[in-house]
Amino acid sequence: MPTIADNIAQIEKGLKQETRLIAVTKTKPEEVLMEAYNAGCKRFGENKVQEMTAKYEALPKDIEWHMIGHLQTNKVKYMAPYVTLVHSVDSFKLLKEINKEAAKNDRIIPCLLQIFIAQEETKFGLSEEEAREIITSPELSDLQNIRIAGLMGMASNTEDEQVVRAEFKGLKTLFESFKSYQNEQVSMQELSMGMSADYTIAMEEGSTLIRVGSSIFGSR
Ligand SMILES: *Cc1c(COP(=O)(O)O)cnc(C)c1O
Repeated sequence: MPTIADNIAQIEKGLKQETRLIAVTKTKPEEVLMEAYNAGCKRFGENKVQEMTAKYEALPKDIEWHMIGHLQTNKVKYMAPYVTLVHSVDSFKLLKEINKEAAKNDRIIPCLLQIFIAQEETKFGLSEEEAREIITSPELSDLQNIRIAGLMGMASNTEDEQVVRAEFKGLKTLFESFKSYQNEQVSMQELSMGMSADYTIAMEEGSTLIRVGSSIFGSR
């Protein structure tokens, strides 16, 4: 059986220079996170604020914490002091709340807009049009404590590589086109796409952050 360290090394070996690995540690206990940490992996992704905050409090302070799950506004305050990047912003209301809590903590919190790219009905995210509305909103300049640092997306859960590749390609194209909106609040730098099943394709299509759980830690 390969160890967690073996799995991380295997993935890291295949990464392009512009792509970084986020180990998705949701549902995993602290000792498992420490195994990844001791293997040199210090970038963790969680999908629940309470779980992430408990782990943040217990674990070393040089870990980057990435929020990748659907967020409720009333939970934002718990992660505002420490979260590294919020991948899952899907409304202007949420962005405002993150801004408010970031200001209280005297920080700027980088955020990604989650774009709906899959064929399934069930996944969260903004349409291209909704994302464009947020990025071009005159109200955005009031939000001095957030940065829109890029986009996130999840491809369809299908064996059909062509479908997955086309979805990632579409997101990359949108990401590139949004670079023209560069201003104080918008700076398109990170493209978060790719999970255990499809990170190789995502990387080929220009991902800068892959979010990998089960290929490192086993199934949940
Ligand atoms: C759970 C999760 C992942 C990781 O999924 P794996 O298939 O275990 O790699 C990536 N992104 C998001 C948003 C997730 O919720």
